[in-house]
This record gives sequence, C-alpha cells and structure tokens, in this order.
Amino acid sequence: MSELRDLLSEVAARVADYRESVADAPVFPDDTSGVRGKLGELPEKPTPPADVIRRLADAVEPALVATTGPRYFGFVTGGALEAATAADMLTTGWDQGAFNQVTSPAAAIVEEVAGEWLKDVLGLPSGASFGFVTGGQGANTVCLAAARHHVLARTGWDVERRGLHGAPPLTVVAGEERHATIDRSLRLLGLGTDAVRPVRTDSQGAIDIADLERVLDGPAIVCLQAGNVNTGAFDDFAAATAIAHERGAWVHVDGAFGLWAAATPTLEHLTAGVETVDSWAVDGHKWLNVPYDSGYAFCAHPESHAAAMSLTAAYLTGQGDGGVRAPSDFVPESSRRARGFATWAALSELGRSGVADLVERCCALARRFAGQLAKIEGVTVVNDVVLNQVLVGFGEDTDKMVEAVQRSGECWMGATTWRGRRLMRISVSGWSTTEADVDRAVAAIQAARETTTRKN
Ligand SMILES: *Cc1c(COP(=O)(O)O)cnc(C)c1O
Repeated sequence: MSELRDLLSEVAARVADYRESVADAPVFPDDTSGVRGKLGELPEKPTPPADVIRRLADAVEPALVATTGPRYFGFVTGGALEAATAADMLTTGWDQGAFNQVTSPAAAIVEEVAGEWLKDVLGLPSGASFGFVTGGQGANTVCLAAARHHVLARTGWDVERRGLHGAPPLTVVAGEERHATIDRSLRLLGLGTDAVRPVRTDSQGAIDIADLERVLDGPAIVCLQAGNVNTGAFDDFAAATAIAHERGAWVHVDGAFGLWAAATPTLEHLTAGVETVDSWAVDGHKWLNVPYDSGYAFCAHPESHAAAMSLTAAYLTGQGDGGVRAPSDFVPESSRRARGFATWAALSELGRSGVADLVERCCALARRFAGQLAKIEGVTVVNDVVLNQVLVGFGEDTDKMVEAVQRSGECWMGATTWRGRRLMRISVSGWSTTEADVDRAVAAIQAARETTTRKN
C-alpha cells in the first residue's frame, strides 16, 4: 500500500474509533491544559504526513467536545449524519473548487440537484434561487443583500453601482428577539444597526402583528423568524407577509433551524404562509445534521439574488455555460468548498420521511425533557415547548446548576438570558439522541440539583 493510502486509512479508522466511542466519553473535556504543549513549536524542517496527523490527533482529541454524540444539548447543535460525514471526507479528498461548471462540473451539478431537493423538502417555491453558504449567518447576509438590492432598485437606486452614500433611507423591521446574526449582517451590508425598527414580541418571542403594522413605513426589509433560538417560537408569516407586501416591503425569514418544521406534516402549521415570503436562511449543520460549514440562502427573486452576489456585478442571471448553474453567482465567495456533496448525502441518507422523522423525534424528546424536568421540585419549564428548544429555570441557582451539569460530563447544555432571567437552554437537534439519553440527562440534572441545593 502507498503511504497516502495508509495515511487516509488510518485517518478513517481514527474517525470511526472516535465516533464509535463518543457516546460513552465525557461530553465536555475536563482537562485541556496539555493541548498547546503537545502541538509544539513551528518546525524548522518538514515532517512526514503520518507523524503530523498522529501528533495533531493525539494533541487535540482530549479537548474535543462530543457534539456528534447523543447527549450534547448546547446551542442548536446537530451531530453529523454518517453518510453526510463520509461525503464531507470525500469532499476534502476530492478538493474541488465549486466556483462554476468549469472549475468542477461535479460540484456545480450536485449543488444544483441538492438545492432543488432542499426546496422540495422545505416546501419553498420551485422557482427560488439558492446559494450554499457557510451557515445561518452567511445565509442571512446573502438574503439581506438581495433584499437591499431589490428594495432600493424599486426606488430607482442601483446599490451595487452607487453604494449606500446618498441612497434613500432603508429601514429594517425586525422582532426584538431577532437572532444576533441579523444585526451583524446589517453591519456588514452597510445598513447599520440603527436601521432596525424593533417590533414588540409576545410571551414566547414571536412578533406582535399590530406593532409590525405600526412601525412599518417606507422602503423596508422585514425580518421574521422561524424558530426563536431560545423558545423555538415562530412568527405569524401569513399575517406579517400580507401587511409587508401590501406596503412594498421585502420579507426575509431567518429559519436557521426552525424552517425544518416545514419538512414534516405534523409541524407544518408552525410555518404556515412561509412559502409566500421573499427570502429564507436555513442551516444545514444544525437540524439537517450535515457537518459544519453548511447553510442555504434561498430567494424568491433570482435576479435580485444574482444582482447582489454575482462576481461580474449586477444583472447576471447566474445561468452558467452548458445550462449548469454557476454556484458562485449566489454566494459571496469565488473559490469555495463543494458544499453540495454532504447535503446531497444527508438528504439521500434520510429521504423525505427520514427528515420528517428526525425533526419530529427531536421535538418529542424535547417534550420528554420538559415533562420530566417539570416534575422536579423547584424546577420550572419557562417556554411553550412547540419545537426542540426547552428553557428551564432553577430559581437563583441556574448558573451554578448549569455549571454542575456541564462538569458532570454526562451531558452538556448551556445557559442563556431570556427576558432578564438566567435559564438553562436545552436543544435537541441530533439524530442519535434517544429517550434513554434524555432520561440520563434528566438524572444528571437531578443529581446536580441535589448537590447544589445541599451546598446552599
Ligand atoms: C444558529 C442561528 C443563526 C446563525 O447560524 P450559524 O449557522 O451559526 O451562522 C441564525 N439564526 C438563528 C435563529 C439561529 O439559531
């Protein structure tokens, strides 16, 4: 066998060993102090590849977080599916530049197919354009750039050519509980966070439609949300979009994880009307369980999408030579990773029913968490558990509780501040979590509760 073959086989075996043992390992590393030392100094001379890889893996494995395991409930984190993981390893091995069909027909064609599949699964209009981006942040930025182009073009202003100096004012109407990435996108796009007119939200974090009606005025982009990152709440897309479209506004939906509710008939009611908006941001690496570096920007106005993003400035349709779509005309990058392979693999592995099962199973497990935790004395579940997010209060002890649970190594959930309260946030987003994992995590919380209350 060649040295390369040996090296790649060793890596594959190492990945398999890691993933097969991850469910039994502590979910968060307890001592990461040795990592820097093991990484050593910049070598003066070359090192054989196999030694490099052994050294890297030996150094960092003790500091890995078991996000691919079944009891990681922090942020909104999906453990990567098996076919998606393997496809991502192939992606690296093939090292394709997914710029267009000239740099890689394989990458361009697979993105085209996977993008069509995504629209189908999510119930988005078949004519929508799409870009494979780095994640939800990237998707929000691309969609809002398309929105900026579209709304200003209607006022007669060409933002791609003239920039924003002297442009008509453009407001962004968004819920008080919008995700922080919306604000960063607005900063990057030169609209600035002062452009935001905040809309009041209800007890679960969904926007108040009457307040939206009050603040919406003039050329505007309305940002709605499918899945509040704390509560999982959904805005009323049908009502908000009817008002916004009547006033000529663009409607964007940040559906990083929540838009996946549209993939299952039992939860579809949460996303009613979402197909009528103008753009959608969705993550692949959260609920679809694709490895990291995967998000999708969809747009109901392909010309505006391409005008904002294509390399040769405005007015390209993004239709490349030979009828194959040029992926880089819909994203801010030119040389880029071939992100379509892993997404195609995830959708192929799951199938339509598998995507629905994954989403429903996670929601059922979130309800199981809520039901069991609510029975523990002094513990309250603060949100309506409509999706996969559970917010838990422990009175004064929340931070201490969260730390104790994290230290147990049994599971990992983070703390959040919601409505001025410190709370534990639980997100069930991975394919490998079972009822037994939830029960084990609840037991760890119960044990932490006993020790922290005893100490008080
Ligand atoms: C995670 C998240 C984002 C950002 O997505 P990234 O993939 O982390 O860039 C945006 N909006 C919501 C609602 C999210 O949950």
